[in-house]
Amino acid sequence: MEKAVEFWNKLIDLIEEEGKRISQFGFETWVKTATPYYYEDDLFVLSVKMDINKDMIQNRYMPLIQTGADILHKGKLTIKIETEDDLNDLYAKEQARKNPLHNESFYKKSGLFRRYTFENFVIGDSNRFAWAAARAVSEAPGTCYNPLFLYGYVGLGKTHLMHAIGNEIVDNHPELKVLYVTSEDFVISVIESIRDNRINELRDKYRTLDVLMIDDIQFIAGKERCQEEFFHTFNHLYNSGKHVIISSDRLPNEITQLDDRLKTRFIEGLTCDIKQPDFETRCAIIKKKIEKDNLDISDEIVNMIAEKVKANIRELEGVLNKIGAYSSLSNKNATKDMVSDIIREITGGTTTKVMTADTIIYEVAKYFDIDPKLLKDSTRKKDVVAIRQICMYVLKEVTDISLPKIGEAMGGRHHSTVMYAEEEVKKKMEEDEAYKNKVNDIVNTIRNML
Ligand code: ADP
Ligand code: MG
Repeated sequence: MEKAVEFWNKLIDLIEEEGKRISQFGFETWVKTATPYYYEDDLFVLSVKMDINKDMIQNRYMPLIQTGADILHKGKLTIKIETEDDLNDLYAKEQARKNPLHNESFYKKSGLFRRYTFENFVIGDSNRFAWAAARAVSEAPGTCYNPLFLYGYVGLGKTHLMHAIGNEIVDNHPELKVLYVTSEDFVISVIESIRDNRINELRDKYRTLDVLMIDDIQFIAGKERCQEEFFHTFNHLYNSGKHVIISSDRLPNEITQLDDRLKTRFIEGLTCDIKQPDFETRCAIIKKKIEKDNLDISDEIVNMIAEKVKANIRELEGVLNKIGAYSSLSNKNATKDMVSDIIREITGGTTTKVMTADTIIYEVAKYFDIDPKLLKDSTRKKDVVAIRQICMYVLKEVTDISLPKIGEAMGGRHHSTVMYAEEEVKKKMEEDEAYKNKVNDIVNTIRNML
């Protein structure tokens, strides 16, 4: 790996000027964002995020890269560009060699990403419950917590935990048939098999599994035929003591346009949420990644990242990847200024923005299309009162601001008013599905901006 990084740095140095002549933007965007993955013998592998990155490099920069690489390598070098997913398959191949019970097609068939394991999952208060449930399921699939329903905001580790369960199961019980699919893939295969008159084949495939993991189930909402197919598959598996693990960005009851009978089935097992990690967990995640990637980053910078990148672990990783790339390309250690720029770049400036109570009040008012001042003054008009309550609830839900401070921001109200508002909103959410969806939508909208 290190060899590959060193080679890639030198190569970039060599071809940068020429590359930028082709297109400065293109060179920065496509070439410089690729990650050196492997360099041994006469093979060099670059890893890229998506097919489009691969195509852009292949079509525009390959001759230049090849020429430079041959010079540096002092001979003909084979260069391969692979997406992370393709590399994942290669990794599976390697694993398969180590474990003769599993061959390559085994992993391909299971859809599992070998890189997501329990070992590299950092546990904190925000995910401990979900982790414990996941562990329990992986130790004795089909016995308890069936179905296991993991939910939480994007980028917080649901997919990672699912794969960890799957990997643990296939390692300990190679005889079990495990399948991980995203809901989108499920939808596509249902549509295709209907089109090609192969629905029985699809049913066979799903109904002979021992463990089915379906990610981001909210995507099947509103797709009737797919829900129907899934419902029967679910029942078949469940009734034969097979395990079903589901993830979603929200609770079953909050998924609009999801069949009631599916909602009922989903909550029959165990539902666990994964929350945003606290500061200590964020630090631990960063440190784990630093260790794995062999990065040289000071504790001060670790703290700085953990303080600023709060909402999403994927973004935390993005920041670290970029620091790794920058410091290895420039052969310099990360400085605070550089890291601060990277954070701004990755989070689009919004994640680090300190959301004051006023900004949130403004956003809530905007959502309901009313004048923010009305939320702060003493108007007793019914709909303003209702929105005011929602606003206080949102402030309580998405910030750490204390009740008295929220009261103050809401036009100098007493903290008991805030408490009362919060209770009222919660009560109404329990009684009224549409109201609840709306409130959750506002909360999510504002969280997205945090
Ligand atoms: P989700 O499916 O909830 O959107 P992912 O599982 O894709 O989130 O997680 C996003 C990234 O963060 C992944 O690269 C994952 O490995 C990493 N990640 C999430 N939670 C943890 C954790 N607790 N420890 C280590 N890495 C984590
Ligand atoms: Mg996911």
